[in-house]
Amino acid sequence: MKSAKSSGYCARRKVWAELVAGTLLVLNAGSSSLKFALYGGAGGMPQVGYAGQIEGLHDLPRFVARDPATSVTVEAVLPAANGAGHAQAIDWLLAHLREAGRAFDAVGHRVVHGGMHYADAVRIDADVLAVLDTLVPLAPLHQPHNLAAIREIAALDPTLPQVACFDTAFHRSNADLVQRYALPDALHQQGIRRYGFHGLSYAHIATVLADHDVGAAAGKTIVLHLGNGSSMCALDRGISVTTSMGFSAVDGIPMATRCGSIDPGVILHLLTARGMDVAAVERLIYRESGLLGVSGLSGDMRVLSASGDPRAQLAIELYAYRIVREIGSLTAALGGLDALVFTAGIGENAASVRARILSQLAWLGVRLDDAANDRHGPRITAANSRVAAYVIRTNEELVIAQQAFAVLARTA
Ligand code: ADP
Repeated sequence: MKSAKSSGYCARRKVWAELVAGTLLVLNAGSSSLKFALYGGAGGMPQVGYAGQIEGLHDLPRFVARDPATSVTVEAVLPAANGAGHAQAIDWLLAHLREAGRAFDAVGHRVVHGGMHYADAVRIDADVLAVLDTLVPLAPLHQPHNLAAIREIAALDPTLPQVACFDTAFHRSNADLVQRYALPDALHQQGIRRYGFHGLSYAHIATVLADHDVGAAAGKTIVLHLGNGSSMCALDRGISVTTSMGFSAVDGIPMATRCGSIDPGVILHLLTARGMDVAAVERLIYRESGLLGVSGLSGDMRVLSASGDPRAQLAIELYAYRIVREIGSLTAALGGLDALVFTAGIGENAASVRARILSQLAWLGVRLDDAANDRHGPRITAANSRVAAYVIRTNEELVIAQQAFAVLARTA
């Protein structure tokens, strides 16, 4: 009995020790998509191999993936019989990888909320999963899907090492004062505090910023992660000082369907005077607000930008205005500003949105270079701009791979 147990342990140790040279499957389960990438870990820096995503979950899921070695692209429409949710998407993806002969030795997951517990990535076991379950109400659009993917894989192969990489972890560097709400201290101690999100994206930008601007990397920078979920982070020498999101991922600037910061009195009014129940308010602030709510048309920036409808223009105007206000706030928190970085779907691609924001920042010494902005940078400000602005592509999957390999190597 004893020897069987210890030989199993030795076998696992050996496998984990070899993992840094093995293949890692990275999974990034969003609200309506499942991104994946296979990374090889040999030679220090993880190298991406076959990668892609299933988009349109809960609707018409479509698969697209590409092998960079052969430039071959694979596309598929998931059969309706497979359903359209996250669990079916995981099953379909794992079957596809198996049929394509693409094996892996471990899985690294993006997990949105790590709460107060995790300042770094962690190997997943039953205890970790139990803690992460308690955080589901704080990120209802993402956390359930992240955990469903972990459970789905554990059910198929309980011995496969899995690592959780958190969006909150990057902001655990924020000072206690910064994390506080002006609420009784007991609530702060119980975890009612500002956490911040999109940390995997900010970690990537903090790592590569010096390739673009050594001075900014050693100074004060605001990163604007503008995607379906949008937030902003103030970096001082690459460390998160504060961020626009707080306790939950609905805080801060408006998003595709989330309202961002709102007077808590509005929520109380809706619950008491308007007779809305909690579920209806949750739906309102997470799924029916933001760009979609203001425009009444769409939460997709491409659709709004192409629309001549004044409501679409109002939604974009409000989005930019709230971002400009937040830049003022984060600049004050930093005590100055050297650079701005735009990233994620809107930040990387929507030149008109970037121009609308930067044109309101002349008071900060920002001078936009229109031609550079139209070709998406990387630097989009003029040489005489006191504050520089850049467009830098984010890579959350690479950060997950780096963190997961580090955890696996540590636990080998
Ligand atoms: P997620 O948070 O789901 O990962 P993304 O980072 O992919 O979101 O960002 C999605 C947003 O980026 C959508 O609003 C989409 O319209 C916008 N976007 C993508 N490409 C463009 C483009 N070329 N012009 C304007 N907006 C774009």
